[in-house]
Amino acid sequence: MASEFTEADWKKLLTSLGENADRPGLKETPHRVAEAWKSWTSGYAQDPKEILKVFEDGAEKYSELIIVKGIPVYSHCEHHLAPFFGTATIGYIPNGRIVGLSKLTRLVECFSKRLQVQERLTIQVGQTLMTELKPHAVGVIIRCRHMCMESRGIRTPGEETITSAMLGALQTNLGMRTEFLSLSKD
Ligand code: ZN
Repeated sequence: MASEFTEADWKKLLTSLGENADRPGLKETPHRVAEAWKSWTSGYAQDPKEILKVFEDGAEKYSELIIVKGIPVYSHCEHHLAPFFGTATIGYIPNGRIVGLSKLTRLVECFSKRLQVQERLTIQVGQTLMTELKPHAVGVIIRCRHMCMESRGIRTPGEETITSAMLGALQTNLGMRTEFLSLSKD
């Protein structure tokens, strides 16, 4: 259980790294780290369905792509507990239901504030939109830098990992997919 891991355990980690956990600079660190991880994993307590429960009507006759770019992504990889961060682009063709930017941002946050792999994060965002909004199509592109790779020289600094999920009509309609990809570029 998560609750059994205490600040004393974070202190043990500091000691195991070769530190003097009692020196002034580290005195408050176990507490701060515990608080920080609560925030970095707060997505587990959020229900993505709740976030999208209230949608806006009024797009009944709108059948073009809606694209939102630059949605912030801050997550931690489940293999190294290292940060990965970047942006998400979400596109969808509504079927009557639309949502505002804040909802999309919260949806991405709900899944990224968990231990993740970028591929799963991308699919979870796409599938939740597909299920809750029932649009004609959903496309999600996520671009992130992974500290576990960059800081250890496995990748060139600044190099991004790009993942995408294409659902509904975007999966089958090549013209639509091309349009989405070109509109999603910076
Ligand atoms: Zn990693």
